[in-house]
Amino acid sequence: KNLVIAIDGYSSCGKSTTAKAVAAALHYAYLDTGAMYRGVTLFLLENSIAFDDMARVEHALRDDIHISFKRNRRTGRNELCLNDSIREDDIRQMRISNSVSEVSVIPQVRHAMVAQQQRMGRKRGVVMDGRDIGTTVFPDAEVKIFMTAEVEIRARRRQEELAAKGEHVELAAIIENLRKRDHIDSTRAESPLRRAADAVLLDTTHITITEQVDFVLDKVSS
Ligand code: C5P
Repeated sequence: KNLVIAIDGYSSCGKSTTAKAVAAALHYAYLDTGAMYRGVTLFLLENSIAFDDMARVEHALRDDIHISFKRNRRTGRNELCLNDSIREDDIRQMRISNSVSEVSVIPQVRHAMVAQQQRMGRKRGVVMDGRDIGTTVFPDAEVKIFMTAEVEIRARRRQEELAAKGEHVELAAIIENLRKRDHIDSTRAESPLRRAADAVLLDTTHITITEQVDFVLDKVSS
């Protein structure tokens, strides 16, 4: 079976960890759609393109921003490439987290990313994580999960992730970033974060990664 499994939800509640493990268990491809928005944000920041300069944003999307993924043979992970250079570490920095929600509500950005995600996802069985997979990218995905967790728990997990990469950030700053992103991601007219009517809710506040993965695999086989 070549299913599309959509995993949407709030930032840092374990979507990508869960999605990667589910993809590995099923021998499916895994696509991190948030990384793509982060890649666009990195490009705009590095080229000093203001997020409200629509002419330059559109031009960049059309001619200058090429987003792809490359498999790292050593880790087995897919890493984000911006114009064919691996930028996986750069897109995870706080400066990108602090701007990405502003970039991802730009309709032209969403349009370009959604079109590319649809092309990439049609090839074979795929697990995609993001905000709008079950609603916009693949509204007829066979399995739809909507993940959430309490903000303090999410912040602690994000802090550990950043620390593992050598970036030490105060918990309060992470909580503020998550709250701000939640707000932008879910309240504006162009905002991506919406739970599809047929998505199954998965609250990860009190459960382990293994339990999250088993929950999704159980939905796939039922
Ligand atoms: O998943 P991650 O936290 O890396 O996503 C970063 C940001 O990208 C989100 O806060 C959101 O603004 C945006 N995003 C989006 N649509 C997606 C995935 C991510 O708008 N499908």
